[in-house]
Amino acid sequence: MLKAKKAGFCFGVKRAIDMAEKAVVNGKTKSLGSLIHNQQVVDYLKSKGIEPADSLEEITDGEQLVIRSHGVPPEIYRESQKRNIKLIDATCPYVQKTQGLAAALSKDNYVIVVGDKDHPEVKGILGWAGQGSKAINTLDEAKELPYLPSIAVLAQTTQHQGTFSSIVEELKKHTDNLIVHNTICKATEERQAAAQALAEEVDVMIVAGGRSSSNTRKLAAICSQITPTYLIETAAEIQKIWFKDANCIGLTAGASTPDWIIEEVYTKMSEILENANEVVVEETSEVKKMDETNIMDSFEDELPSIYGGAIVKGTVVKITDEEVFLDIGWKSEGIIPREELDATSVLNLDEPVKIGDEISAMVTRVENKEGYTVLSRKKVAEQEARERLAELAESKEEIQAKVTGVTKGGLLVELGMRGFIPASQIETRYVEDLNKYLGETLRLRVIEYDPGQKKLILSQKAILMEELEKKREQLLENL
Ligand code: SF4
Repeated sequence: MLKAKKAGFCFGVKRAIDMAEKAVVNGKTKSLGSLIHNQQVVDYLKSKGIEPADSLEEITDGEQLVIRSHGVPPEIYRESQKRNIKLIDATCPYVQKTQGLAAALSKDNYVIVVGDKDHPEVKGILGWAGQGSKAINTLDEAKELPYLPSIAVLAQTTQHQGTFSSIVEELKKHTDNLIVHNTICKATEERQAAAQALAEEVDVMIVAGGRSSSNTRKLAAICSQITPTYLIETAAEIQKIWFKDANCIGLTAGASTPDWIIEEVYTKMSEILENANEVVVEETSEVKKMDETNIMDSFEDELPSIYGGAIVKGTVVKITDEEVFLDIGWKSEGIIPREELDATSVLNLDEPVKIGDEISAMVTRVENKEGYTVLSRKKVAEQEARERLAELAESKEEIQAKVTGVTKGGLLVELGMRGFIPASQIETRYVEDLNKYLGETLRLRVIEYDPGQKKLILSQKAILMEELEKKREQLLENL
């Protein structure tokens, strides 16, 4: 098993987390957006009292606000100053440099930022560039640009070098004056180069990091063009079957992946490999066959990135008793085994699928023996359910769920993960016979949710008590 030479936390992300941890000692601290695109680290920071806020409206005047490494547009600084919000500016110095260039170059040039227009870093840079600026992310978008007298081109710091270079070449055809500033961060380049080099050496690549992290997804996309690749957020997602035919496995991690997750993944992979040694010896001939046919040579550049953990969209083209077949626009169809089709009632995704439906699913195996990409709709639903449950735990909004099981101490419901309603939280009075609730739909509120511990506790009593209290208050008012 080999680890990429450069992987994990970059300087900018590490600096932002250090600054936030120091700030929280002095008082209530929020970050504008998640400080880092990694759910496990966000949960850790929350436990320390550093909460993400979606906008300045959620910040109370006088509170501390951390600007994350992605940076923000200038109006955030102006508004914060007006409202006496204490800013802890953790914008990465490399991003600050790009923002400064955008502001200066926009005076005489149309500014193009090669990057994702919806990414906060790009939004921030465009804010500094002002009106005469635009983000483009693909060669096709560059081809659609009109002639412009003067263009200055910058890059999102996590942009892939190859994409940036090809867009720069295209831009030369759209202006007589092109100013190029390659603002791709070295940390990103180094991680991408190290991941690519490692992917060329190994049979399977594991990329550890948040699925919402742009740089992690790019690492997975780069590796998936070379060898079967799986993107995982935690060690618990690793499946032995991925390594069945592998002699050598590579591990890399996004710039927002902390060392402790990399270590956990490394340890889990080592354990799997130790136990898999006999299997590999037995199956040497099959491994050799894979080398001879050089399966991965058939990967073509224009194919979409398919890697374990990637979320793909596809159209249902065939349904059998065992599987649902999806056209995912790749060299082979995707299949969702029946047991991976179930969705969750909390998301209202439990309607049956029909031919022609467009659905999202997560890649769980890049290619099975028959050459199909194995997908799971259930995993996407579970991921969305986790996000929804976190919202419900925060908002205390009422939901409804059917009781699917009864235990000694309470009731069970399925909400993308198993939820537990303690007997003491069902009614306002003591309940003797729990069995009568089986199959019943209850009105519920999330009272405790810890995805790490797989803990979801709900209460109907909380809602009933609140209603009783309201009635009591109304009665008192009318007396
Ligand atoms: S990837 Fe580079 S630019 Fe982005 S935060 Fe890290 S060091 Fe800064």
